[in-house]
Amino acid sequence: MEIFCSYIKMVVSYSNYSIIECIKQSGKRTAMKIIILAAFLLCTVFTGHSLLNSSHPDKNKNPPHHTDKGFVNPYPGFEEKSFGDFLYWILFDRARNSNDKKNRTYDFIRVKNDGKALRENTGSFSVTWIGHSTLLIQIAGVNILTDPIWSERSSPFQFIGPKRFVKPGVRFEDLPEIHVVIISHDHYDHFDENTIRRLGNAPLYIVPLKVGKLLEDSDITNYRELDWWGSTTYRGIDFIATPAQHFSGRSLFNRNETLWSGWVIRGKKHRVYFAGDTGYFPGFKEIGERYGPFDIAAIPVGAYMPRWFMGPVHLSPEEAVQAFLDVKGKKFLPIHWGTFDLANEALDDPPKVLIGEIVHRMLPVENFWILKHGETRNL
Ligand code: ZN
Ligand code: ZN
Repeated sequence: MEIFCSYIKMVVSYSNYSIIECIKQSGKRTAMKIIILAAFLLCTVFTGHSLLNSSHPDKNKNPPHHTDKGFVNPYPGFEEKSFGDFLYWILFDRARNSNDKKNRTYDFIRVKNDGKALRENTGSFSVTWIGHSTLLIQIAGVNILTDPIWSERSSPFQFIGPKRFVKPGVRFEDLPEIHVVIISHDHYDHFDENTIRRLGNAPLYIVPLKVGKLLEDSDITNYRELDWWGSTTYRGIDFIATPAQHFSGRSLFNRNETLWSGWVIRGKKHRVYFAGDTGYFPGFKEIGERYGPFDIAAIPVGAYMPRWFMGPVHLSPEEAVQAFLDVKGKKFLPIHWGTFDLANEALDDPPKVLIGEIVHRMLPVENFWILKHGETRNL
């Protein structure tokens, strides 16, 4: 039973969608669907877990995103998707869509970045897109990585799961010394244990509540955990955890046990907002009012289709533009696209939709930095 449950945990690991594609390709789809559904029911019965349980605010604790059944999205209008919705999406909606994408190739341009300039930079403000949500931010002599992932796959396993379409924009070996790592949440495309183990205990990890335990499992003890609106300071730079509308979990059995967040990086001269993973929610305006304006706002634009399923937890490119305006961003840096195939849209779709929205709203195009993998911009 335990092995069976472990298999199912693997199947439903949030980012591990390609397993289903393998099942499908094996020609045993119908049988596997029945097995997966039956196994889910069995695991639920045997372990006493149910993803469909509703949670209630914990009366002994504030604030409202803490409940007796884990963390929740407290902002009005949030609609939680059920595990049944997930199964429908992965087994039918996405399976149909992946047939159309099967033979797609992409011609992303990867900038040659050997890291030399990054290693020599000791003071100026720069940002480099490594790929997906991984950024190297250099601010006041401090080198910061966001949601670092250098692995070939966004998955608990390196033999199966969403594969990288573009190599990291900077080789891991070419990085400058990393002082701080910020992590938005525990999904595999944001919390990559292999990369964290390579980075080791030298950088300071700043993470949302309860993510520290995962770090400890990766032999990392040099971390600080923060709740939404909590802050900490490193060498004169403030790091503030900001609300996001998302969820967490690395298997069927630990959904929403750890917190998710965005991050504000506030130096003496410059400010960055890193949104993590999020749907559109009223918190953006509050973040803008409390901590804006931001020199750079890094906001996710990918893994947004289909909207009926992704809408509550992943921004569309159009919504990302609104979020950028809400937080009072000066330069928009789209992240969470062009690297791993995690949803229905093609990997090169988000920037096209984004450009359409910029034109539609008649916004100054120079304020939108659609970086190539490996590209560095200085301010
Ligand atoms: Zn996520
Ligand atoms: Zn993600």
